[in-house]
Amino acid sequence: MSETDPSLRILNMQILRQLRHYLLLAERYFQRAFPMPEINYQLRGVKAGVAYLQKNEIRFNRTLLLENPEYFLQQIVPHELAHLIVYHVFGRVAPHGKEWKAVMETVFQQPAEIYHHLDIKNVQGKTFAYHCGCRTHNLSVRRHNKVQKQSAVYFCRECKQPLIHLP
Ligand SMILES: [Zn+2]
Ligand SMILES: [Zn+2]
Repeated sequence: MSETDPSLRILNMQILRQLRHYLLLAERYFQRAFPMPEINYQLRGVKAGVAYLQKNEIRFNRTLLLENPEYFLQQIVPHELAHLIVYHVFGRVAPHGKEWKAVMETVFQQPAEIYHHLDIKNVQGKTFAYHCGCRTHNLSVRRHNKVQKQSAVYFCRECKQPLIHLP
């Protein structure tokens, strides 16, 4: 963690507070102690967070955290911590199986959403499916808007038919 980044320092404090909150809920529910996980912000790529079960460590994606702080505090933190709790209690089971779902919903009182790794991809490269006479074309948001405003028509290079969006 960079000492010179004040927003990350504040977010780190908030994340630790959330972790302690959910850890306490798990301790009350399972009637046992859990070790506080190691936290760092060195995760790269499209994933928001990854839990390392044997290391009892959670790596967060610093760039995505700074862009989506609320989402991290509300969703990513309990999601990743739940993986560690499940590992401590049940050992190696399916990552988003019934044990993980139960910890999210029953213990943490949070929706068991498993799609946050995909969420970012949707934001990064949203496309719309168009059809010609021979295949499907994925048009960018910019092109799609042009077609919808009737300021452009695109044609398939292969079959020469106009591309049509079927909702
Ligand atoms: Zn997960
Ligand atoms: Zn075609």
